Order: sequence, then C-alpha cells, then structure tokens
Amino acid sequence: MTNRYFKQLLLAEIGEEGQKRLNGASAVVAGCGALGTVIANSLVRSGVGKVTIVDRDFIELDNLPRQVLFDEDDIRRGLPKAIAAAEKLRLINSEITIEPVVADLTAENIEQIIKGTDIVLDGTDNFETRFLINDACVKLGIPWIYAGVVATYGMSFAIIPGKTPCLQCFIGELPGPGDSPTCDTVGVLGTAVNMVASVEVTEGLKILMGKQDSLINKLIYIDVWYGTWKVFELKKDSKRCPVCDDRQFAFLEQKKGTRLSSLCGQNAVQISPPVSTSVYFHDLASRLRPHGEVSYNDYMLKFTIKPYEFTVFHDGRTIIKGTTDESEAKILFSKYIGV
Ligand SMILES: [Zn+2]
Repeated sequence: MTNRYFKQLLLAEIGEEGQKRLNGASAVVAGCGALGTVIANSLVRSGVGKVTIVDRDFIELDNLPRQVLFDEDDIRRGLPKAIAAAEKLRLINSEITIEPVVADLTAENIEQIIKGTDIVLDGTDNFETRFLINDACVKLGIPWIYAGVVATYGMSFAIIPGKTPCLQCFIGELPGPGDSPTCDTVGVLGTAVNMVASVEVTEGLKILMGKQDSLINKLIYIDVWYGTWKVFELKKDSKRCPVCDDRQFAFLEQKKGTRLSSLCGQNAVQISPPVSTSVYFHDLASRLRPHGEVSYNDYMLKFTIKPYEFTVFHDGRTIIKGTTDESEAKILFSKYIGV
C-alpha cells in the first residue's frame, strides 16, 4: 500500500527521520478561525501525532469564505468550531489523535491545556490572548509561533523561550482598543490567511522535527495583494523583558473576576464567569422558554430575545449577540443566565 506520507518522505527536508518525529509530536492550535483551520488542516495532513484544537466560538455564514474546514451543514447543526474541525480532520487522517477543546483560553485553563505539548500555534484574533499564550509558553518553556493577518497582509514569528525574543520583547505593551486595524474594521482576504498560515506551519514543522537550526528566525511580513515579502531581524535588546528575563507573567496571574470581551467583527460580547460551572441545558431551556425562543444541542444552547441572541456553553461561558456594550451584556447575562 502506498505510504500516506510518501511525498514528505522523498523531501530531503523531512525524510523518514523527520516524518517519524512528526508522528511522535504534539501541537496545540490556539483558535480555529481563518488561521486556525488552515493550520490544523496542514498539521493533520502532515501527520503530526496529536493535534489539540482550542476554540471558543461557533460557526457563522460569514466564516465560510476563509475558514476552510467548515461548511453550511456545520452551521445548520449549530456546531462549535472545535467540534466541527475535529470531525472533518478525523476523516482526513484517522491515524493520529485529534482533540477538540470548546473553551476560551484563559489564565485559569491555559497551562492545563498546553502542558506537555511540543508547540503552540497562534490562530487567535486578539492580542490579549496572544500575551496570555506568551506568558504560559515562556513559563513552561514551550515554543510558540505568533501570527496575525488583517486585510491583505500578515506576519509570523517563531518564539523559542530562552533563545529568541518573546512577544513582549518585540511588541512591548498590549495595543489599546482601537489602536490597530482589525478584521472587523478593514476586512481580511482568505488568500492572505493561507499564505501566513503556511509560513507559520512550516516553521512549526521544523520545530517539531527538531530542526530549529533551519528556522528563518526573523519576523516575516507578507502582503499577498501588493506582492510584498519582507523579513525583519528581531534581536533581544539590552532592555530587560518583564516576561522572559524577569519571569513576571502578568496575563497569566490575572485569574479572578468575570471576564468580558468584545468579539472581533461579530457585534457581540463574550462573558466568562469567574468559576466554570456545569450548565444543564434542559433546566435552563425551561426557565428561558417563557421569555423567548430556545433551542439546544449537545454543545450549546441558543436563546433569542430580540434584538439579542445568547449562546450558552456548558461551562457557563456566554456570547451575547446584538450588543458591543460590555455593561449592557453583563446586565443581560445576570438577568437571563445568571450562573
Ligand atoms: Zn521577552
């Protein structure tokens, strides 16, 4: 029978030894949107032994132009992204382990989720989560690859704790709200995502094969529309970094309190209760039915009370669509869900 990885075995850059390393390696894909679906797809097809996919969201129609693992049927079935991605990927490669995690990466759960993995790949859409990943990866000594795409351009950089600058070293402070363009304000082109994800995964495969010497070791910037490809040397400067020099993990240590965040481009606010609970959809549905339309499946409950749409997950995390006002969302949450 033909070897599934025949063309990779032929490649001098991978070969039999490299393929064996990939089959024995593990990766966490943080976020399964545009970048994350392309990353997970490539990792699974390349034969990385265990791929964990973490995503907090569900699939919507305007995801389909970019998010290559999803289809209209997934939307009809109301599947969370992590679950739909895992279902597709298991059809592609049944010889590896694929683990979906339907959760928001938080200070409380990130170490548990990434502990023991060989690499974390950035498929997120916000800097807060990236700084959290940076803290956790530097703390645990796990390599991670930063990537971001907006409009027709994007960039990527492989961070090896102790060897390269970390995210904090080269970005400095967390950009403030409204400081940088987002996919919501200026849009994003799917081909730009594919390009940046390809660079990101290629660097990731090198790390997983133990070929760190082959890393580009520079920040790569690509604009797929205007044909720009630039590389920037990033060196650790003499200034001490609070994260990788002083091991102060500010994002990881902010563990308490209800967390609210506006979701990129969705006219929605996400609410994460301070303690994750177990929400019984059957009970919640009967409480909510007098107030509006309710439906639920194994993964989430939807409650519509115009103009708002609530999506509640088992751990109590709730996305309220129809507002970007965090205090309004908090009031709606305590009024109807109140976990
Ligand atoms: Zn640093």
